[in-house]
Formats: sequence, structure tokens, C-alpha cells
Amino acid sequence: MLYHSTSGDSHHVDLFTALATGVPDDNGLYLPDSLPVLPPALFNNIAGMTLQDIAYVVANSLFGNDIDSETINAIVNRTFDFDIPLVRIEPDHYSLELFHGPTLAFKDVGARFMTNMLSELLRHMPSPTGKITVLAATSGDSGASIANSIAGRDDINAVIFYPKGKISRMQEKQIATYGGNIQAVEVRGSFDDCQMLVKQLLNDKELCEKMPITSANSMNIAHLLGQVVTYFHGYARLSAIDPQKAAKMVFVIPSGNLGNLTAAVIAKRMGLPVRRFIAATNANDTFMRYISTGIYTPGRQMSTVANAMDVSDPYNFARLIELYGGDYDKLVSDISCFSCSDGDILTTIRDLYRSTGYLTDPHGAVTYFAMKRGLKHGETGVMLSPAHPAKFKTTIDAVLGQEIEMPRTLAQLSVKRLQKVTLPPNHLAVKEYLLIP
Ligand SMILES: *Cc1c(COP(=O)(O)O)cnc(C)c1O
Repeated sequence: MLYHSTSGDSHHVDLFTALATGVPDDNGLYLPDSLPVLPPALFNNIAGMTLQDIAYVVANSLFGNDIDSETINAIVNRTFDFDIPLVRIEPDHYSLELFHGPTLAFKDVGARFMTNMLSELLRHMPSPTGKITVLAATSGDSGASIANSIAGRDDINAVIFYPKGKISRMQEKQIATYGGNIQAVEVRGSFDDCQMLVKQLLNDKELCEKMPITSANSMNIAHLLGQVVTYFHGYARLSAIDPQKAAKMVFVIPSGNLGNLTAAVIAKRMGLPVRRFIAATNANDTFMRYISTGIYTPGRQMSTVANAMDVSDPYNFARLIELYGGDYDKLVSDISCFSCSDGDILTTIRDLYRSTGYLTDPHGAVTYFAMKRGLKHGETGVMLSPAHPAKFKTTIDAVLGQEIEMPRTLAQLSVKRLQKVTLPPNHLAVKEYLLIP
């Protein structure tokens, strides 16, 4: 399979190049030239398949021409080694809990998949130094997943950029306490500044020649394609509970950079029998306004209690547009979108907990809010729950007026020492730092 840039499909590269360079050099993002369609008969049996079985089928259809089946098997087994349960909240409302991985956020799926793919790539095609460095900008959760998936490896380093003072203490501890092959860089600027820095560094030819670097997050095509698996898994779990509900299934998707939603659209193209999607955004509502008007105008980035969704100019928008061939009418026949304020988030967390006993994190609350607004009569909603509520303990405790219990993996972090550097949001200063041997 070949991959091309969303900025123009004249230049096609193989999987290894797409992975090892991370982004094309024309400011676009990689997409596969075509998408395989899974045999419809698969969906008759999928309810009996495990997460690992499903991941193998999906990954093999995407990468089977480029990677041997034993290697694909190893990648999916190392990635999907935690549970992704489907929990019933109300008769027609379900939650697919993607937060049972090592850093308690759904980003673990894509980060682990990407890291395992990269590691295989390095075994087959050693780069000049035998190592590759992953550059990532994070608003909190993705950095933790990337750091966790790469820490302690001798084939991959990570440099993680985050905005000073804009991520929670817990998130910072999850990123900046590893040391060793994980460099944490606190940037005196915003998350947008961090994203801009990473883009500039990845497009810096001189830097790329001196040190092999690649992208992370859903910017990296391996991260994005790994996420596709979770939608097939969600469908399988609902089919196992009630095939009639599965036939009326709508996914509700927490959205920031739109990686989640793009992966969902790819799953549908690959044959997943899902009806449609409801995207959920917080006060950063650029995508919601696009859906209602057809006009894309990024607003000013705002800080909210659902900070992993604080994105005003989502980079995966370009991929979504290309997947729909620029056809707005087609896009809105598959995707609707609802936005909510911080006030709505807090009320939703409290009311949902009081009426059903289900505790959701602020990003899950944005998603549940959109599910309630957007689901039509006769449909079954499956919301993706992207983060463990304990990661947002301050918010949750304040809303519920009680202390929620900390999972052990988070509690242990509080005693760990931070190891970070602080840099200005300046490309040349950061480049100089990266090139220090
Ligand atoms: C990353 C993230 C999101 C947004 O996902 P995108 O793929 O960027 O749209 C939502 N919630 C949480 C908790 C996240 O970490």
C-alpha cells in the first residue's frame, strides 16, 4: 500500500517512509491511497471474536502487503493487552471505555500501536544511527501515552512538548518523570505554539538529516490506523449483547484534533456497518460551526475543563475533507456535531452520576452531552469514553462534593521527581537543544 499527502497526491511513499518521516514535506498529512474493505461475512462472526482477533484482522487488511503476519500478530498483541469494555449506561446509551490502558486514556491505543510499528520498522530498516526520535506536542493526555509506550526502549527516543502551566500536575508527572530516553520540554507558550514547533521541526530538512525524527499523535498515520480497531471492537461488543441494537448503532466521538473521528470514518469505509457519527466538541467549536455552516474558520483557542479537546484548528480536518472528496453534503450526511460549555460539562457529570451512578470524566461528559442531544429515536448510541475520571480528580471532586478514589498507577506518581527543561516557543532555540549530543 502506498501513502500520499493531503496537500496533493502527486508524491506517493511506502508505509515505512510514511512512518519514519511522520509527515510529508508539503505541510499535509499522510493518508493511504486506498482503503481495504473487509468481507461482509466477518460481521456475522465478529461478536465471538476477541479484541486481539479483531485487531489482527483489521491490521492485516491494512498492512498485510507490507508486514508479515507474524509481525502483525506481535504488534497487535503488544498493543491491545488491556481491556476495552462496553458498559451500559441506559437502555440505548452505552460507553466504550478506552481508558483501561497504562496511562488511563484512549491515547494509549494509538501510541502503543505506533511505537510497536516503529520498532518493527527499525528492525527491518536501521536508520543511520539505529535510532529514531519521536517528537510530540501534547495538551496533556497524548504525551503521557507516548512517554509510557516509549520509556525504557533502546531503539526509540521521545521529546514531548507541552505548554507551561496549562496541563494538570498529574498529566505533567505522567510525562516528565521518566528521564532517560524521554525528554520533557515545557514550552513558554500555548498548545498551538507546541504544535507549531513540532511541525517546524519535522519540516526542517537540516535537522532531519542530522537526526532521524518522526511525528507522534494522530498526526502519525500508524497512530491513526491503530485507532480504527476500536470501532470494530465496539461494534462486536454491542453485537454480542444485542445484534438488533448493533444494527442501529451510532458512535459518539470526543473530538479535539479529530483523529478519533477520522479513524471512525476510515472504519466505516472499511465496511463497518455503523449508521453515522455524532462528534462532540467543547467550547472550541470550530468543527461544530463547520458542520452547521460549511465554513471552516478556526476561532481563538480556549482553555476548558476538558483540556485534551482544546483545539481550535484541528489538523485532521484535512484528512476528513479528503476522505469525503471535499463533498460537504456527503460529510454531513454521515457526521453531526454538538458543542458544550464548561457549565454543561460540570452539570452533565453531576446529573449523569446522580441519575445512573455512571461516573464520567470531563471529556466523556462532553461526549454524553452530544449523545443526548444528537441521538434520534430508534438509534443506539455508543459513546467513546476517552479518559479515566480520576485523571481529573480536582474537577470531579468539586462537582460531586466527595473524594474519588485514585487508581494505584496514578497515586504512585505523586512521589516521583520532575525531570524537564523549559524552552521558549522558538524553533531555532529548540533545534539547538535537540542537537546537543
Ligand atoms: C485526545 C483526546 C481527545 C480528542 O481526540 P482527537 O483524536 O484529538 O479528536 C478527547 N479526549 C481525550 C481525553 C483525549 O486525550
